[in-house]
Amino acid sequence: MNGLIERYELAEKAGAEGVWDWDLRTDKLYLSPRFLEFLGLEPGEVAHRPEDWLERVHADDIDWLYASFEGQMGDTHLPFQIEHRVRRDKDEWRWLICRGVAVNGHNSEPVRLVGSVADITERKVAEMRLRQSEQRYALAAAASSDGLYDWDLKSDKIYYSPRWKAILGFRDDEIGDNPDEWFDRVVPDDLIWLKATLDAQVEAGGKPFQQEYRIVDGQGEVRWMNCRGIAVLDDHGEPVRVVGSQADITDRKAAEQQLRASEERYALAARGANDGLWDWLLDAGEVYYSPRWKEMLGCSESDVGVSPGEWFNRVVLEDRAGLKAAIDLHLEGSRDHLEHEFRMRHETGSEMWFLVRGLAVRDEEDRAVRIAGSMTDITARKSAERQLLFDAFHDGLTGLPNRTLVTDRIAQALNRQRNGGGRHFAVLLFDLDRFKTINDSLGGMYGDQMLLTTAKRLEEAKRTGDTVARLSADEFCLLLEAIDDVPDTVSVAQAMAEAVAHPVTLANQEVLLTASIGIAHSASDYERADDMLRDASLAMVRAKSSGRARIEVFDTALRENAMKSLRTEIDLRSAMELGQLELFYQPIVELGSRTIAGFEALMRWHHPERGMIPPVEFIPLAEESGLIIPMGRWALQESARQIAEWQRLFPRKVPLFMSVNASSQQFRDDDILARIKEVLADHPIPPSSLKIEITESMLMQDPSQVEQIMRDIRALDVKLSIDDFGTGYSSLSYLHKFPLNTLKIDKSFVSAIGQGGDNAAIVHVIATLAAVLRLDVVAEGIEVEEEAQFLQDVNCKYGQGYLFARPQPAAVVTELLAKEQVMLVEMTKG
Ligand code: C2E
Ligand code: MG
Ligand code: MG
Repeated sequence: MNGLIERYELAEKAGAEGVWDWDLRTDKLYLSPRFLEFLGLEPGEVAHRPEDWLERVHADDIDWLYASFEGQMGDTHLPFQIEHRVRRDKDEWRWLICRGVAVNGHNSEPVRLVGSVADITERKVAEMRLRQSEQRYALAAAASSDGLYDWDLKSDKIYYSPRWKAILGFRDDEIGDNPDEWFDRVVPDDLIWLKATLDAQVEAGGKPFQQEYRIVDGQGEVRWMNCRGIAVLDDHGEPVRVVGSQADITDRKAAEQQLRASEERYALAARGANDGLWDWLLDAGEVYYSPRWKEMLGCSESDVGVSPGEWFNRVVLEDRAGLKAAIDLHLEGSRDHLEHEFRMRHETGSEMWFLVRGLAVRDEEDRAVRIAGSMTDITARKSAERQLLFDAFHDGLTGLPNRTLVTDRIAQALNRQRNGGGRHFAVLLFDLDRFKTINDSLGGMYGDQMLLTTAKRLEEAKRTGDTVARLSADEFCLLLEAIDDVPDTVSVAQAMAEAVAHPVTLANQEVLLTASIGIAHSASDYERADDMLRDASLAMVRAKSSGRARIEVFDTALRENAMKSLRTEIDLRSAMELGQLELFYQPIVELGSRTIAGFEALMRWHHPERGMIPPVEFIPLAEESGLIIPMGRWALQESARQIAEWQRLFPRKVPLFMSVNASSQQFRDDDILARIKEVLADHPIPPSSLKIEITESMLMQDPSQVEQIMRDIRALDVKLSIDDFGTGYSSLSYLHKFPLNTLKIDKSFVSAIGQGGDNAAIVHVIATLAAVLRLDVVAEGIEVEEEAQFLQDVNCKYGQGYLFARPQPAAVVTELLAKEQVMLVEMTKG
């Protein structure tokens, strides 16, 4: 008991609180000088009786105070705490906070009540002011943003204010005065409730109501409304009108929903944890720290004194200045309250996060004299936030940094370099070879395992300071810091590739992990991180296409090519509709008679800006983008139409034929057989005068499927030709499996005939074996007479090349055919 009194007296000396001590046996009450000061009494003016105090208590508060005393008369005494008003002068009221507890005598009966009081008038006034201003604000806000309505129950008409309509996105004249204007727009699920609320008003009346519901606005969007209202009664108490307002609370609802999700995460941590309190008397330079405040930091009651240093010395060094600044801002009055997050050290040394809130009490000159508030342990929330932050910047599967994070690091490295402080660095892009195949064939679980293994190997192999990140499914990125030249970068890339390239066992199968790597080096003067990643990725794509498990360094030519093909692809999409495509025809000549036997249709693109673009530049793009399918259909139709015309104009014993190139996609993704049938139905040509040219590589892709289509085509009596023979991998012996009619020797062999070496021999062999296989042979790219002569000598039947004619527009070819017709007629005459 003495200890308790001592503590109160200490507190009193500190200037904060008054002390009281009520002896229940003698009914004497001791009030300390500070307490008397609060009451505006001089020590001589008191009777040392309870009335000294209780007579001055506000009528509204006295019952509560008695109740608190009575609460102490039972067996267990938990200290009470109550705020009450006391009269100081005639009409000056002060607010006191009173804490007290009973003290038991020998027979366990309470014999005394002792406690403290503190004057909290200023805090109360500040609170009240705040509340008033808040209420005022709320009112003002409501008046400006709420829509008003007034429902006349007799006429069943509703007046909607312009604002009511505007909230829903309607002009004043767009909404009439019918109740349906409102209720027809309410979301059906919510209409029941809104109607029930309104009906209850009409029946019972008189009590304000409030209802949240959803409504569809003018744009068809669902919005949340908070509708308030009250029924107005006539003299007989009958409701005659319902009036009220409604406000758009869509944003609040959305925020609530988000909050709820995040709150659920924090709820556990928050439960049971209450705040620590503090109260800082600025002039005295002393702080009251509540027991809970101390407990949160692992301190016992006596560990912590009253100096501000008890607080600030426990604040983590880096956060001290920030906390001080936040407090000062509020004390100076530039912030209307204190709210700040910072870290403190627990007694055990661990770091904790706190949220401090506080409010200053000001004197008449508006000078802060005291600041008090609470402190909340937000360590759990912070670590949840950190987790969220981690999740936002890391990949869920491997835990590696994700694209966002590595992009940021690249940007930082670029920044350092720009500011002259950083060395060169490089971005390496790894793309696992055959990942998709493995993922598709073995299943996602093994795919994940493959990725985890790769991630681990990359992490282990990287140099410290470098960053490994996962960008997308099977794409990893390595940011190599401080690497000055490209050859060094390539060696690192090689080492990394080797680190990755070990077999892994997946589903009892050994799979070799290899990656294609693209490199972008900062020496190329980059502005943006994204550009560097893009270039690394372009280089990677080239590494892939030049045969996997390779390393490519980005160079500008690569980017230009990529840019060009991007532009080209965009333009190509509209080329067909704009009629920019044309077929040129190159005669195929019978070498013996040197007369035209047929033609090859070759596509040309007249680009409005770039002029004529050769097929090597746009056919591959058309294939990549799938445009080749409509383009191929068109070429087939158009060339058939043309040959039909020429056959009609220039009839021959063996009709002129037409060769059309087909891409493998037309075999795979288009029903080429149906297309050919259509063409034959549309144009009166003998099927045998139509030839489809396919490439060697196509035979290799999916031999069985292609073979079946080829047989179907041959069954129509349409002919098949193998193009560019000799450039692929197929051998003559392999050819017999396919139902081919013609073999075209690639121009690379033909043009080398005159240069000696093996070429002449090779051409000879091809021609001979083709004869054995009963295939016609066409030699492509004949440019000089010598080549024509040689080919004729080795029994090559047809030739095609600039020596005879270049690919030309149909009109030019028509003239050519006309001339030849004259010549042929003369020959038969002669
Ligand atoms: P290709 O089917 O092998 O066509 C023969 C190519 O050799 C043509 O090139 C032709 O102009 C060229 N050429 C003909 N004679 C000579 C010569 O004496 N010397 C030289 N140096 N070249 C000669 P072009 O027209 O540039 O076509 C290139 C390739 O584009 C074609 O090779 C073909 O694979 C493809 N292509 C053209 N049109 C189409 C089409 O409609 N569809 C498909 N899928 N591909 C087409
Ligand atoms: Mg061809
Ligand atoms: Mg060819």
